[in-house]
Amino acid sequence: MATQQLRNAIAGSAVDGRRTFDKTSPVDGSLVAQVHEAGREVIDAAVASARKVLAGAWGSSTVQDRAAVLRRVANRIEERFEDFVAAEVADTGKPESLVRELDVARAATNFRSFADTVAAAGMDSYLTELGDGRRALNYAVRKPLGVVAVIVPWNLPLLLLTWKVAPALACGNAVVVKPSEETPSSATLLAEVMTEAGVPEGVYNVVHGFGQESAGEHLTTHPDIDGVTFTGESATGSAIMRAVAPAVRPVSFELGGKNAAVVFADCDLDATLDGLSRSIFLNTGQVCLCTERVYVERSIFDLVAGGLTERAKELTLGRPGDPATTTGPLISQQHRAKVQSYLDLAVSEGATVLTGGGVPDVGADLADGAWIEPTLWTGLDNSARVVREEVFGPVAALIPFDTEDEAVRVANDTDYGLAAAVWTSDLRRGHRVAQRMRVGMAWVNTWYLRDLRSPFGGVGLSGIGREGGEHSLHFYTEPTNVCVQL
Ligand code: NAD
Repeated sequence: MATQQLRNAIAGSAVDGRRTFDKTSPVDGSLVAQVHEAGREVIDAAVASARKVLAGAWGSSTVQDRAAVLRRVANRIEERFEDFVAAEVADTGKPESLVRELDVARAATNFRSFADTVAAAGMDSYLTELGDGRRALNYAVRKPLGVVAVIVPWNLPLLLLTWKVAPALACGNAVVVKPSEETPSSATLLAEVMTEAGVPEGVYNVVHGFGQESAGEHLTTHPDIDGVTFTGESATGSAIMRAVAPAVRPVSFELGGKNAAVVFADCDLDATLDGLSRSIFLNTGQVCLCTERVYVERSIFDLVAGGLTERAKELTLGRPGDPATTTGPLISQQHRAKVQSYLDLAVSEGATVLTGGGVPDVGADLADGAWIEPTLWTGLDNSARVVREEVFGPVAALIPFDTEDEAVRVANDTDYGLAAAVWTSDLRRGHRVAQRMRVGMAWVNTWYLRDLRSPFGGVGLSGIGREGGEHSLHFYTEPTNVCVQL
């Protein structure tokens, strides 16, 4: 069978790159596709096609038109649900069940949610009293930002892409998206769906390639983009800030995390252990919101350590289609080498390994995959590098605390500030501690429970700005205030 070719998608056409690179499966190293890398000329064409459509009918489309388009995209994603599942599974090696429940379902929901948000959104108006009896009316109108560069990572490829494309389109922008080089398939498939749903050609463009000195850098340094929305590593966020600095373009950044869970002795232990285990190991620990630091009140430390270890040992690594599989591989050999280096570092920093700690024996047919053992450590404190740096794998350090104030202090002792979870039966304490967390999102007795209207983002190294509901409209539009002397 011929190898699948994944081309750039510009103004409704598939466009060759100047060269191709291989995308391989993290499950067993098999070839998934050859991907056409966009050079500068392809990026120029993509940006020009986005600019052109803004000058045409899309630029003067109504909010109701665009909300209807978004709903058609959501419907079409659902009609092609299995194609998206196959694309996402091929690229990431995640369990199929997870891709169905989380990634593809959320992609459709993203489009519906932002159709609702934009259709319901109002704008401020003020009746201004001038003091001499005269008045003035101030009101603002929203305009699209323009051509938006959307750069996304590999961990939840379609979910994170549509989380940005949906509000961008709802607000009347045109986008040039660059999916991760590790996960090019679902963004390419979405281009087909856009055409099938009647999205005008040029509104959604896809360019493939890497970051530095490749499609990512060519796009972010392009003089004719109007803003960048980015999800990925904090260091990449810094590079993109530098790239857009000369032209002073706005950025929205959802970056890395080193998220804490704070577990009080009065928690519902079983529910907490289930929740904690999910928050550490979901998607093989490759969710920006995943817990990598667990602070546990000393009186239940051993119980929590024992319960979590049991749950980690119950995880089943395996092929995505096997219903028994709970846990897939890491995204790539390169990422596994990074995670493995942290597993080694933890031991040299004095960790006791409760479970895991290395590469599992997954049998000959999976030997070329990027498999890693779910791993838990004790014996570390906040001075250890593995407790300070984002690993982005199925790992967590368990650390005891004695008082609420101490728990808040150690949880907030990080350069990141994305998410936190508090586990307690005392709801007053839950509110109190959650509000004291220096993060964008704090959960109490749950984790990764999302309402797409609520603000999402981080502080410190974890990002700039918030997206979600009306917060997204702020980034994807430029208001013009009109003042009328009455
Ligand atoms: P990454 O930063 O390496 O890559 C993300 C994207 O940026 C890719 O498409 C990549 O090709 C591109 N890129 C890389 N260098 C670039 C450059 N110099 N200029 C322009 N584009 C460039 O991140 P990753 O390894 O793909 O993803 C994992 C990271 O993403 C983790 O740090 C994780 O915490 C973070 N993340 C954050 C959130 C959030 O919402 N805060 C969500 C998911 C993932």
